[in-house]
Amino acid sequence: MSEAPYLSLVIPAYNEQENIEELLRRVGSALPVMGKPFEVIIVDDGSSDDTPALLSSAMADRPWLRVLRMQGNGGQSSAFDAGFKAARGQVIATIDADLQNDPEEIPRLLPMLDGFDMINGWRQSRQDNALRRVESRIANRIRNWLSDETINDSASSLKLYKRHCLDGIHLYRGMHRFMPTLVKMRGYTVKEVPVKHSPRFAGTAKYGLRNRAWRAFVDLLAVRWMKSRHIRYDVAEVRRPADGASA
Ligand code: UDP
Ligand code: MG
Repeated sequence: MSEAPYLSLVIPAYNEQENIEELLRRVGSALPVMGKPFEVIIVDDGSSDDTPALLSSAMADRPWLRVLRMQGNGGQSSAFDAGFKAARGQVIATIDADLQNDPEEIPRLLPMLDGFDMINGWRQSRQDNALRRVESRIANRIRNWLSDETINDSASSLKLYKRHCLDGIHLYRGMHRFMPTLVKMRGYTVKEVPVKHSPRFAGTAKYGLRNRAWRAFVDLLAVRWMKSRHIRYDVAEVRRPADGASA
């Protein structure tokens, strides 16, 4: 890890033992295509399965792999936040650990950051069950309506940020579903790009309708308020009159 990475890929993982090996194989062959130094930060979100053991042994022969271990399950936003704070790259990318996002999309999306501050991967053809797809469509509609937005797929994990988008950002639980809005609020530009989406490689989903829909709605009201009250201004200090002018 001597060379400073250009890109940091942050991946939250909670009880993903069935996916770790394949995930590392896929990112390990996808990211070198960029031709730039990279690091992969897997944030183990307090897993109780074999995820920690698998990650520890995987580090032995992968110098680009870093592992953060949350001391308990804090949720996806905390995991992202911890990863963002540890990231050293100029560009920070995120995906899920279950390979629903294709790591191969990252080198394809990277040049699109030219002229934009953030790229949001839009899962145009969702590979989730019908209930999940309907839930997501309704959620995005309500989200756009109440927060005066035009984002197709706010909660997609496949995202690329120029580092300044995240510098000093203050996240709260559930905020990972609103990142495009939070970044735009700070005065930065976001481009949405259709990306490939796949079924979970293995293992089970960590959320159900109950622990997502209601919470996401409450969070939306908070984001709506934050957006309406966000302060953004330019200020410059007035220079003192030149020495002697007032003496
Ligand atoms: N995840 C996490 N902490 C949690 C719940 C989920 O780090 O408390 C991770 C999970 O391991 C996966 C990603 O967040 O990498 C998305 O979770 P999941 O695939 O279950 O959600 P879905 O794809 O159904 O939105
Ligand atoms: Mg998933």
